[in-house]
Formats: sequence, structure tokens, C-alpha cells
Amino acid sequence: MSTSPRLVLWDIDHTLISTGGVGSEVFRRAFREATGAELAVMPDPTGKTEPATFARALRENMVPVRDELFSAFAEAQTRAYGEQAAELAERGRVLPGVREVLEELAGRPDVLSSVLSGNTRAAGRAKLEAFGLARYLDWDIAAGGDDAPTRPDLVPVAWERAAATYGYRYGLGETVLVGDTLADIATAHANRCRVLAVATGRTSFDELVAGHADLVLIDLSDTSAVLAALLGY
Ligand SMILES: [Mg+2]
Repeated sequence: MSTSPRLVLWDIDHTLISTGGVGSEVFRRAFREATGAELAVMPDPTGKTEPATFARALRENMVPVRDELFSAFAEAQTRAYGEQAAELAERGRVLPGVREVLEELAGRPDVLSSVLSGNTRAAGRAKLEAFGLARYLDWDIAAGGDDAPTRPDLVPVAWERAAATYGYRYGLGETVLVGDTLADIATAHANRCRVLAVATGRTSFDELVAGHADLVLIDLSDTSAVLAALLGY
């Protein structure tokens, strides 16, 4: 029997928080700083990793691809989230029930609560710091968009970090993902994780059900229902 705590991996955008438009403004600003070009066309980042969204932004805005551009962009983006933290907290919002659930999980020794997101690890952390949520999550094992080319590859990254940091050995079936898109659900299925989907993003409740999430909720406001879904199997 495994003695590792239950691993819960959270998506960030539209699962924990909404940026209220600050996210795309920061993207635009960092794109300009990194490339010197204006972003005329903003690609839809839903379900994508940040390097994939950035590569698409280069193509759609006809900026020649160079290897060093993404790291310059990622640095500028994280810096911008730090500088615009007050604005982010004001215009964005923590989604219903999120703070209560994260706080509860952070206090439990039988749970390891961390992040699996398309954001780079640094940008994701900076975003959640603006809302006072970063402190509830384990950042040593978090997996971000800069850790692997596609989202499904991020789960093994988190598992490897859990092994390297704590000696916990996670395998198939011992992890729960929480997310708002079909990409989150597909990522869980690819790694045989369970998945709680929440309809606080652009994907509807019915679409999430049709995507075969283990459970779909309208939002996370019913703390005991969310905890039961995450812990009770
Ligand atoms: Mg999301």
C-alpha cells in the first residue's frame, strides 16, 4: 500500500483564478519586449502550454522564430506579473470556493497539493502570489508549460519532482487533476489520473461531461463536495 499523500494537481487559469484581461495584456507587453514587434493577433491560449501559444503568436504575427525569444518572453512575462500584481488582484478574481479548498488541503498531511498548468512555473506562481494563493501550493513539484512540450507530458514531470523532493513514488491512478478544459481532461486520461472538471472557464458543463471527466462541477463553492471528490475514493 502506498504511503504517499494523495497528489492533487491544479490548473490555474479559469480553475483557480481569472485575470480579468490582465493576462492577455501582460502577454502583449512581454511579446513586445522580447521581439520588438506588436502583437496584432492574440492566439487562443486555452489548454495550450505557454511555449506553444508563444510559437503560434510568432507565426501569426510573422515574427521570425529564434530559439532565445521564448526565454526572453518568459522572463518579461514573469516580471510584468510582479509589477502588475496590484492591478491583477483588482481586475482579476479568485474563483468561488478556491481559497477555502486550497487552504483546507494545505493543512492536511495526507495531501500534496500542487500545480499543473500551461503557464511557465514562474509566471503561474507570480499570478497566484498576486491573489495570496501561492502559499497554499507546493512549488517544488509543480509542473509548468516550460517543463515539457505538451500538457500530458507534465504529469510525469510532477511525479519525478515528487520522487526527487520527497521520495514519493506516484504511478498510474494515484493523482487527481482539477481543470476547466478538455485539454485538462485529456491530460488526466493520458496518465490514468482522475479528473475533476469545473465549468468556470469557456468550456461548458455539458462539454466537460461529454469529455468524460470523473466529475464535473459548476464551480468549487461547495467545499465539502470538492473535498469528497478529491479525497474520497
Ligand atoms: Mg485553465
